[in-house]
Amino acid sequence: KKKKLVPPNAHRSISIITNLSRCISTLILAEHESGSIKPQTVSTVVAANQLGESSSVSLLLAGSGSSLQEAASQAASCHPSVSEVLVADSDRFEYPLAEPWAKLVDFVRQQRGDYSHILASSSSFGKNILPRVAALLDVSPVTDVVKILGPNEFIRPIYAGNALCRVRYTGPGPCVLTIRTTSFPVTPVTESKKATISQIDLSNFKEEFVSRSRYVGQSTQDTERPDLGSARVVVTGGRALKSVENFKLIENLAEKLGGAVGATRAAVDAGYVPNDLQVGQTGKIVAPELYMAFGVSGAIQHLAGIKDSKVIVAVNKDADAPIFQVADYGLVGDLFEVIPELLEKLPEK
Ligand code: FAD
Repeated sequence: KKKKLVPPNAHRSISIITNLSRCISTLILAEHESGSIKPQTVSTVVAANQLGESSSVSLLLAGSGSSLQEAASQAASCHPSVSEVLVADSDRFEYPLAEPWAKLVDFVRQQRGDYSHILASSSSFGKNILPRVAALLDVSPVTDVVKILGPNEFIRPIYAGNALCRVRYTGPGPCVLTIRTTSFPVTPVTESKKATISQIDLSNFKEEFVSRSRYVGQSTQDTERPDLGSARVVVTGGRALKSVENFKLIENLAEKLGGAVGATRAAVDAGYVPNDLQVGQTGKIVAPELYMAFGVSGAIQHLAGIKDSKVIVAVNKDADAPIFQVADYGLVGDLFEVIPELLEKLPEK
């Protein structure tokens, strides 16, 4: 007798899988500033759309005051796939502290029904909040996702970006992901659709949900330069700059090119620039159109943060510096001669 190879319930499991991919509902923790939604949130929406064909996307905005409501109204039309914008307006969310935010996500889940996926970008905001959300929900987060293969299957970098790992999420409970937004560029969409905006009723959000941690302050660079994480041009300086004064050369060049300033960890450790300018494995991941590296050796930890750049230009006086192995254009020369010449020859902005 011929052996039956197909298990009797196979058709059922196939239909369950199909139904599952139809039931994808994603909650995205949105970042906003001065009444505007941040570009990394829109990239996270792009990623959410790749989880399955008919996934529904809700954005969660928290904060307080009129700028929150302005951001909510902008968020409602930031991408046609966003179906709902949930707004948590309270002083408790004025600053992005992980404890109240994580409680809020859980609170929203309980109020609005289970989400199959909870996403945030791999920014300092997402990296701060999502692990606590995952701990609270007793699930294992999948971080730094660079590719989505299916609702529960993802690619993420390991070993400082030297290898890519395929991860399948099998656990019960929602799939909690942080998204490396440089891998999910936003393409212009012609369709315009406005999502519904709902205010979350926080009357049952208990006071004890508020954390023991306290917001002390934030110091930001008072600069008109573009944000390092999303700039089209990044000009980076390494240890070779030797001092804070010399680093002004990098800043002047970035200014002239309308770009952001970056630095290696060696330059940051030497105190030439603050550490929010560090690019690399333990700094920011960048993917500009043009990345210019001056006096940067090209250590793997630095390259981990720049490998998605479209064009890499390197200037180093050592012809054997590893940075030349990844550079599209390389110049063996002294940066103290090259940068002043560039500054002189480049046209004014
Ligand atoms: P160096 O390696 O000292 O290189 C300086 C370069 O400048 C040399 O190649 C030299 O030939 C060149 N040079 C000197 N003078 C001139 C001149 N006048 N003109 C032109 N070229 C000149 N590093 C990061 O950048 N980002 C990270 O996120 C990061 N994370 C790390 C995480 C871990 C766990 C560890 C262990 C290390 C990490 N590092 C990181 C450090 C990294 O290994 C390197 O030490 C660092 O990137 C080196 O910085 P650099 O290229 O400025 O300095």
